[in-house]
Amino acid sequence: MTELTQLTLSQALEKLRAGDITSVDLTQAHLDQIEAYDPQIKAYLTVTKDHALEQAQAADEARANGDDKPLLGIPIAVKDVLSTKGIETTCGSKILKGYTPVFNATAIQKLYDAGAVLLGKLNMDEFAMGSSTENSGYFTTLNPWDLEHVPGGSSGGSAAAVATNMAMATLGSDTGGSIRQPGSFCGVTALKPSYGRVSRYGLIAYGSSFDQTGPLGKTVEDVARMLGVIAGQDPNDSTSMPNEVPDYAANLSTDVSGLTIGMPVEYFGDGLQPEVDKAVRDAIAQLESMGATVKEVSLKHAEYCLPAYYIIAVAEASANLARYDGIRFGARVEKADLVSTYKATRGQGFGEEVKRRIMLGTYTLSAGYYDAYYGKAQAVRTLIRQDFDTLFEEVDVLMSPVAPTTAFKFGENTSDPLQMILADILTISANLAGVTGMSIPCGLDNNGLPIGLQILGAPYTEQTVLNVGHAYQNATDWHTQVPTILKG
Ligand code: GLN
Repeated sequence: MTELTQLTLSQALEKLRAGDITSVDLTQAHLDQIEAYDPQIKAYLTVTKDHALEQAQAADEARANGDDKPLLGIPIAVKDVLSTKGIETTCGSKILKGYTPVFNATAIQKLYDAGAVLLGKLNMDEFAMGSSTENSGYFTTLNPWDLEHVPGGSSGGSAAAVATNMAMATLGSDTGGSIRQPGSFCGVTALKPSYGRVSRYGLIAYGSSFDQTGPLGKTVEDVARMLGVIAGQDPNDSTSMPNEVPDYAANLSTDVSGLTIGMPVEYFGDGLQPEVDKAVRDAIAQLESMGATVKEVSLKHAEYCLPAYYIIAVAEASANLARYDGIRFGARVEKADLVSTYKATRGQGFGEEVKRRIMLGTYTLSAGYYDAYYGKAQAVRTLIRQDFDTLFEEVDVLMSPVAPTTAFKFGENTSDPLQMILADILTISANLAGVTGMSIPCGLDNNGLPIGLQILGAPYTEQTVLNVGHAYQNATDWHTQVPTILKG
């Protein structure tokens, strides 16, 4: 059965359409794969076996009746940040233990409407705060390429599940890099759409002015199919935009002639692992040899991205997380009076990193400090956006590494929270500016760990970014490499 899990989503669709395979067999193969590998990798918080098999059965019946929805019968899984009706949704936090939403996130509903089969909910850093999945309130996910290394985060489960064929594609969320960085660390294709491209209704909020949900998959083509389904305006999310949703997968092209690639000099500075630097430069050279033009550019305010992001993100988080009080949803630590119940629930329900951020955010928003921190960070954010606007007048896409290094070891950055956030330096600017960002595999380091190429594009140029990635994947085979754990 394992061959079925090795198919890409697009190949599986073709076989389903041709009647060569059934969704029930495809889904069962993925459930078997989960049973075989997840005890080791720990990507799943919840496996929805019966639900998945029911959906698969329904998909096969629908197909027999002539239905051909875009993802009909395709088994996928989603980060536990997305609300799933009737299925526990914890956001990786103990405080939401037992919370079962009464509605589906719009992205989930759209996947269901397109015929997808849900295999389960994936592990993550608590409330999406982190870069390694070590902050999960439950357990840590392992990097399938080397079990002593982190899978990245916060969508570590989403990336590890794709890398081990435990789902054909997954959804993650990206506030400061949480789709792209685990994508890079686990060697899969991972897209953060532009701010407003995909509805966040039902996506549990971390930093609302940054959060985006997006797909991870084995190929650019697979990711394009997922995006085509989940994108679009939603009356339930006033920040989702009315821009037309192209048929991304059908429009994919491999022609990069006439394309201008910008390399921000600030993103190729000191501190890059040499193999990362080389692999990314080689990937850009490859695209140049295929007809693209490459030029060096400058992101003038790059050095201010990290402080601006970490002030605004924690401020928004402190407000967003105020609602978890043990009264309305999730776990409750019952005490004699209301205030003691709040305190005990929040004290025991939230992990250390989440508490640190709530405190920092409350501080930066408090009277007397608001202008000095939050106000200033917002002003800096405007400058960073302007940098991107100016650059995208002269280049079509920007390219850089996704992270300065490949996946680090467990515990390597946990004792020093500053060290952990410094590793986000290359991804957060895209969230500050609301632009499109994708990670695609472009090499392996000396220890055999994957390296990711980051491709950034102006807001709503997902098609361009996907096309460049598709052209690269058409000419190279880094995206087809699999971790040794899968080689038997
Ligand atoms: N690592 C970053 C943070 O902790 C980004 C997380 C994310 O994108 N959700 O905030």
